[in-house]
Amino acid sequence: MGIEYERIKEIIQEVPTPCYIVSEALLEKNLKLLRRVADRAGCKILLAQKAFSMYYYYPLIGKYLDGVTASGLYEARLGYEELCQKERRCENHVFSPAYDKGHMEELLQICDHIVFNSFSQWELYKEAALRAGKSCGIRINPECSTQDHAIYDPCAPGSRLGVTLEHFEKHGLDALEGIEGLHFHCLCEQNADALVTTMNAVEEKFGAYLYQMKWLNMGGGHHITKYDYDVEALVALIQRIQKKYGLTVYLEPGEAVALNAGFLVTQVLELVSNHGIVTAIVDTSAACHMPDVIEMPYRPPLYNSGEAGEKAFTYRLAGPTCLAGDLIGDYSFDDELKVGDRLIFGDMAIYSMVKNNTFNGMPLPEIIALDANGTWQTVKRFGYEDFKRRL
Ligand SMILES: *Cc1c(COP(=O)(O)O)cnc(C)c1O
Repeated sequence: MGIEYERIKEIIQEVPTPCYIVSEALLEKNLKLLRRVADRAGCKILLAQKAFSMYYYYPLIGKYLDGVTASGLYEARLGYEELCQKERRCENHVFSPAYDKGHMEELLQICDHIVFNSFSQWELYKEAALRAGKSCGIRINPECSTQDHAIYDPCAPGSRLGVTLEHFEKHGLDALEGIEGLHFHCLCEQNADALVTTMNAVEEKFGAYLYQMKWLNMGGGHHITKYDYDVEALVALIQRIQKKYGLTVYLEPGEAVALNAGFLVTQVLELVSNHGIVTAIVDTSAACHMPDVIEMPYRPPLYNSGEAGEKAFTYRLAGPTCLAGDLIGDYSFDDELKVGDRLIFGDMAIYSMVKNNTFNGMPLPEIIALDANGTWQTVKRFGYEDFKRRL
């Protein structure tokens, strides 16, 4: 269960609910592992901010990682303001399927690498980007699916993400003039074997072009900080690719950076029963505060609980919104749940607060940092104005 969980149990009555608690110690543990991988492989590792943008921790992240990457202007600006502007060796990267002209003007001032999703976007911005001294890349699509989460598979037929070999070759070598790198992102929560398979497809299709590149960005989706990740295979692959093609490899994990570093504390508001199913309505919502539970879908880990039927008392945990499907999952407990009981969900740092919304006028969970010395502090508190201002 871990010492951080023990500490959260101690403070569980002190913190407001719902709240996210992100542990500095757990985050730093991930960062140390990622740094070791980068050092051993001789590659660079960036934080993909779309998974985790709690910039309170960017100074810590900047101590270990080589920079940040963004899905567009706002993330790029956050990475710049909160990290790269202050930390000189920090690299600021951006990829977007299509850039807005106004956004590109700003990106050219704050980014180091700009990755284009098509040759027409590259042609549109080439002159300005090269004049601004940017390192530019093209995202390729190796059309190699190694996973079955269709909505997270950029290699699915008809995908808009990345240039396929057919279109790549149509444009010919002239179109590559000024391009310094290739980028692919094909994985989601996967181990090194899927990267090896993907890299084989990349080499087979695009290998001839890699010799003229300065860098190759292997995207995210590498579950490097998961307990069963094959770090040795990853390091060996990166070393081989860098040596063979004479380039620098970048990885840009999001999930792996803050995997299992966050918690969501919630409180039971009410218990209702229907057809033998007892639902505990809690003050957090799957739809608003953990949308991946519905989108992915997955069952978030909950401390001191079991699968439905495993322990004496089984409950369906659900949000207080009007959405019938606002269900977190079925869990069992040794003791009966009571109104006012507090529950602790795990793995709530990534793809949680960045995806929050105020559907139904739901309050946003407070964001709390649990420092390495065990003290906690509120980083952000939200209220009615945060709901109203966006409408
Ligand atoms: C989503 C994404 C990432 C990060 O993915 P994780 O699964 O969080 O590691 C990195 N690069 C690109 C281009 C992405 O779209």
